[in-house]
Amino acid sequence: MTSNSSSSTDVEPNVLDVIVIGAGFAGLDMAYRLSRDGNRRFTVLEQAASLGGTWRDNVYPGCACDVPAQLYSFSWAPNPDWSRYYAGQAEIRAYLERTADDFGLRPFIRFSHVVTALAYDQHSRIWTVSLRDRPALQARHVVLATGPLNIPAYPNIPGLDGFKGRTLHSAQWDPAYDPTGQHVAVIGTGASAIQFVPEVAKRAASVTVFQRTPPWVVPRPDRSISDGEKRAYRRWPWLQRLVRARIYWEFETRALGFVHAPRLLAFMQWRAKRNMAKAIRDPKLRQALTPDYKLGCKRILVSDDYYPALARDHVSLNTAGIDHIDGNGVVDQAGQHHRADSILFGTGFKVQETFNRFPILGEGGRSLEADWQDYPKTHLGITVAGYPNLFILFGPNAGLGHNSIIYMIESQTAFVMDALRQMQARGATALKVTEAAQDRFDHLVQSRLAGSVWQVGGCQSWYQNEEGRNIALWPGFTFRYRQLTKKLNPADYVFET
Ligand code: NAP
Repeated sequence: MTSNSSSSTDVEPNVLDVIVIGAGFAGLDMAYRLSRDGNRRFTVLEQAASLGGTWRDNVYPGCACDVPAQLYSFSWAPNPDWSRYYAGQAEIRAYLERTADDFGLRPFIRFSHVVTALAYDQHSRIWTVSLRDRPALQARHVVLATGPLNIPAYPNIPGLDGFKGRTLHSAQWDPAYDPTGQHVAVIGTGASAIQFVPEVAKRAASVTVFQRTPPWVVPRPDRSISDGEKRAYRRWPWLQRLVRARIYWEFETRALGFVHAPRLLAFMQWRAKRNMAKAIRDPKLRQALTPDYKLGCKRILVSDDYYPALARDHVSLNTAGIDHIDGNGVVDQAGQHHRADSILFGTGFKVQETFNRFPILGEGGRSLEADWQDYPKTHLGITVAGYPNLFILFGPNAGLGHNSIIYMIESQTAFVMDALRQMQARGATALKVTEAAQDRFDHLVQSRLAGSVWQVGGCQSWYQNEEGRNIALWPGFTFRYRQLTKKLNPADYVFET
């Protein structure tokens, strides 16, 4: 997606060292590291009026993280006060706000700064960052921390425009929306929908869930964290680090099953089936809810209340497929009309478009959108040939299906800092990854993916592009990724002085 730039042609005179775009987890981690470096002139541009990224945007009821809070947090900002094993959206957002203040990061953030284009000038070796309704900024380096899951995807269903009731997407929820007494249609059964369906079902008169592909749902061992535990974490921070490490390794072992031996996932699949059997008595419903692809192929979902919600009398699952929408509801492919006062979309995100949310022009005016027309190609998911001094966080093939993305982000920001240090040590003003390094990384990723559950598990997912190529996930252990990104290998780069 390219935005229609209304940018001013003015440019602020000072050239910054680094511009970071986005103030979610990735942008804040980058800001933390840059601020600790001491002599970096940098700023973080955030399009919204507050920070938090996905944890600011997703305010649907039931929104929570499916990675335990002790692990889903910065290594440098442990929080002994998490109230639950799995933290909810509001608590994670508050954690990010507090962390930004505690570590003095807020002054570096310029809110309501909407980037409309990036352009590299190879003579001056400077990036110009165009902004909506503001003078452009310039920097030697740019870090994209814009995240892959924030352009909502609405399904292209005939008749949707003529629907007379309310429509809401999980990522654009209106906190004032009240389903009390309403007939509600839900489209989608991914990570977001399975969290809001139980909450909406508590108040709605009826809920019809339109499922295209059933997800695998494993139990969610949530619990509150006692005051005693919190005190212990405060007193003995190593104890909290130990808990974090235990969770990390528990999640990390899943990579074995995902990448190397999908049959190892059989036990989890059995747990998921048992999870369903406990709540769903009706064998027909159980059958409709049982996936025909391998667990792990799509993101594994974690819930204790989704199946019980579906078992309630006023909640029904429709698997006939949607034919069209009319003014008063949804008509399925069996011809049955389902009255709806509101339609709730849990239909996910346009992941591919996030890479092209604004034009990015590299050396000689080449465009990232054109270069990535087939698929995004990077080195380590971070640097791109033809785009010197540009770094991407949580970019292509750096996402995860099995562990905390914060771990990956921290590996990447450490890599960026090492790159900046190595440039400085060599007096370099431009850092360019070689095509050869990029090709090698691409080969490594795709060869690992070839036998993985994501490719051979028998499903389609948002991890893949339209051609079925996995553009989202790092296929392997996260500690291996950390080893690869620990130090920038000078042989993979050209330093221009
Ligand atoms: P998603 O996983 O992409 O799920 C979208 C759902 O909508 C799928 O069930 C999909 O069916 C369905 N769908 C899409 N288009 C449709 C259409 N035209 N007709 C009928 N059904 C349609 O999206 P999401 O649930 O928002 O989750 C996206 C990602 O966000 C997750 O995988 C996860 O990484 C992240 N997330 C994380 C958490 C967390 O706890 N940390 C919570 C929420 C989201 P098909 O399966 O058939 O395509």
